[in-house]
Amino acid sequence: MPSNDGVLAVARSFRVLVIGGSYGGLSAALNLWDLSRGRLPRFNYAYEGPPPAHRIPIQTTIVDERDGYYHLIGTPKSLACEKMATESWTRFQDIPALKSPNFKIIQGSVSKVDCAAKVAHITDTTTKSTITEPYDYLIVASGLRREYPTVPESLQRDDFLEEARKHAENVRNAQGVVIVGGGAVGVEMAAELKMLEPQQKVTLIHSRSRLLSSEPLPDEVAKRVCSILQEEGVEVILGQRVIDTTAVDAEAGQRMWRLTLGDRQQIMTGHVLSAISRCVPTSTYLPAQTLDKEGYVKVHSSLQFSGDIPNSEHHYAVGDLAAWPGIKRCGGAMHMGHYAALNIHQQMLAECSGEKPSLTTLNPSPAVIGLALGTKAVSYTPDEGTRHGEELLVSLFGEDMANTSKFTETIPSVQAI
Ligand SMILES: Cc1cc2nc3c(=O)[nH]c(=O)nc-3n(C[C@H](O)[C@H](O)[C@H](O)COP(=O)(O)OP(=O)(O)OC[C@H]3O[C@@H](n4cnc5c(N)ncnc54)[C@H](O)[C@@H]3O)c2cc1C
Repeated sequence: MPSNDGVLAVARSFRVLVIGGSYGGLSAALNLWDLSRGRLPRFNYAYEGPPPAHRIPIQTTIVDERDGYYHLIGTPKSLACEKMATESWTRFQDIPALKSPNFKIIQGSVSKVDCAAKVAHITDTTTKSTITEPYDYLIVASGLRREYPTVPESLQRDDFLEEARKHAENVRNAQGVVIVGGGAVGVEMAAELKMLEPQQKVTLIHSRSRLLSSEPLPDEVAKRVCSILQEEGVEVILGQRVIDTTAVDAEAGQRMWRLTLGDRQQIMTGHVLSAISRCVPTSTYLPAQTLDKEGYVKVHSSLQFSGDIPNSEHHYAVGDLAAWPGIKRCGGAMHMGHYAALNIHQQMLAECSGEKPSLTTLNPSPAVIGLALGTKAVSYTPDEGTRHGEELLVSLFGEDMANTSKFTETIPSVQAI
């Protein structure tokens, strides 16, 4: 039947369950929502042709442990800056694009997925009861488990604002801050702290002789990052492991920390922040056959599960959780969410028409990085090589660690229902 806008409606409806309401999950949910209404997907790259001719009734459930969308990549700044913290977390109920009866939000933690029965078991945060949520299509986008202060501990917006206030106060009042770990998070943390608290002594200690040592990037990138940190006033110590951290009560009752390094050098500081990445996939709710040795979800280039499970073609993984080569990035997660939406839409159409779905496949992601380092940024792509500078910071991150660009690109209120 054609509707008022001339789009044909298909006879059956579909239930879509999205685990994780962040970059990957929201990108998948909202692009699929656009397509199902006969509109171009809001990320319309990789989409060819006119808007879809059919309207497909879908009911999307998004489950997340947090009560809102949290702009994770801004953490080095938002934990140390109360204004930025306020803007970084938007409760799902305040996101215009999700205010439709076609979306249901559950704040809870998924404990188990039964791929044969196509149901997920969720522990509801408020009631602590177990909800059983059936689905026709599942998109897992629950990312990696990371620890404070790489990410906040809070799961509610109000608690997060209090956590950020305390974190900022601790950093501001400390007699020196040491950041341990010079990966992507550590270097951003050090630079942002120095910019926000210029009078504070900020030291970054890394166990290897090169910053960003676990990223597959040329040495030139690491050297550039190191020189920018030093120009911004951060003291960088390379090639030294922190082998002991002891609390000492200094005069006037202020707690200090004594750090002993591998070469026996000792450093006194008022506050220690660990940026040593302990990222663990959050995939414990999935059957073991779907996972690789490290717990990432094995996928085809269509982003459908590739493990030996029933209904694998109706199960998708996007973002950090997917076993996909390349540096884990929020842009990559959003891109994958978009592809999952395109493919699920194709499958839904095919289920209604009986035709074979035409699936879009993802190319391997090249090693690409963009780092915000206080007043400057550093980026690397294989095509452009290493770039750096203040203008680059504005073009990559704007004024707010890319919160506006990521947020409005993913969840534009103007395109709300
Ligand atoms: C400090 C920091 C800085 C970064 N900077 C950059 C940067 O500058 N540029 C860049 O491109 N990338 C950056 N990254 C990487 C980027 O943040 C990730 O690649 C991105 O967040 C991946 O998105 P995602 O949607 O896959 O997962 P996530 O953003 O991790 O979202 C996963 C969601 O799933 C929820 N969840 C987890 N487990 C469950 C469960 N069992 N049940 C229900 N919900 C669950 C979580 O609450 C979360 O909301 C940075 C990462 C960090 C930590």
